[in-house]
Amino acid sequence: MYWMDMHDAEISETMRSFGAPAYRSKQVSEWLKKGVRPSDMSNLPKSLREQMESIPFGGATIFRKYVSSRDGTVKYLFALEDDNIVEGVLMRYSYGNTVCLSTQIGCNMGCKFCASTLNGCVRNLRPGEMLSFLSEIEKDEPPADGKKRTVTNIVLMGSGEPMDNYDNVVTFLKRVTAPDGPNISARNISISTCGIVPKIYRFMEDAPHVTLSISLHAPNNEIRGALMPINKAYPIEQVLAAAKAYADRTGRRVVFEYALVGETNDSHADAIALAARLRGMLCHVNLIPLNPVEERGLKGVSREHAYEFCEWLNKEHISATVRREMGTDIDGACGQLRRRVLHELNG
Ligand code: SAH
Repeated sequence: MYWMDMHDAEISETMRSFGAPAYRSKQVSEWLKKGVRPSDMSNLPKSLREQMESIPFGGATIFRKYVSSRDGTVKYLFALEDDNIVEGVLMRYSYGNTVCLSTQIGCNMGCKFCASTLNGCVRNLRPGEMLSFLSEIEKDEPPADGKKRTVTNIVLMGSGEPMDNYDNVVTFLKRVTAPDGPNISARNISISTCGIVPKIYRFMEDAPHVTLSISLHAPNNEIRGALMPINKAYPIEQVLAAAKAYADRTGRRVVFEYALVGETNDSHADAIALAARLRGMLCHVNLIPLNPVEERGLKGVSREHAYEFCEWLNKEHISATVRREMGTDIDGACGQLRRRVLHELNG
């Protein structure tokens, strides 16, 4: 049991067990929603705070912070109470600020281009830890004048596979959208999955207002299977059927992520094959020039080539854009920052 994971009924029960009067539970709940530790709950008596410290807080602290001098993007490495470290990013856009959060420490999915998965999944992140990333960022980068909060949008696109930590992720989404919590609109939240099909069907019932992104990365099973081991369990036909069901169920377009890997999935024929697969579906393709990971030996593509591929899709009447690059001076793709710092620390 951790403070940051408790819901209100659990907080009340725990506070009662400490012999505290009922109104204390409400005070504690308000503090926890702001990510404040028992030792800093200034309106509680010291003796009660000390009693509370017998239960671990279960949150994160900022371990390192890197600020891009180009666009103000901030990359964070958070430390957890078991000394694991994990990444998060704050990106500044004209419409607001987006944070990219991790859902697991490492990942078991084994995608061939990704750094997060190189040593497998260490463990799942708990809802309270994910909430704590958000509150630590808010404390570190206080809202601009006249604004209630710094963070307006969340993308679950850091390290980990959110649908492989399903219950914790859904609990996190419930808490983060709660009117008496951070109150972030579900429409401002995106989740990205490598395509765990049964979980996609569950997700459209559990969180229909959250935007679904699916990492497609290929127009067929041959290429997808070579890049993403998950394709063996859930081939592209099943992934696309789930995407279509999501669009039908929610009336919202699915975003397909497509990392362009040089000489692998980036030809004109690949674009035409992809367009044929997606024709008639309510969707958008988000093209990402591969961020080459040293250990992986795959090639990137130039931005010009990414625009060319995008043009090929657009000519086939498929909505597509090339993802904007942010914070390129402070580190590369998913999982690379954590790996680099772990190498530094372990020598
Ligand atoms: N597990 C989730 C979230 C992963 S990260 C998923 O698979 O969707 C978000 C996106 O970054 C995914 O589309 C992932 O495939 C992509 N990605 C991972 N490593 C990358 C790299 N080196 N270059 C470009 N995109 C990468």
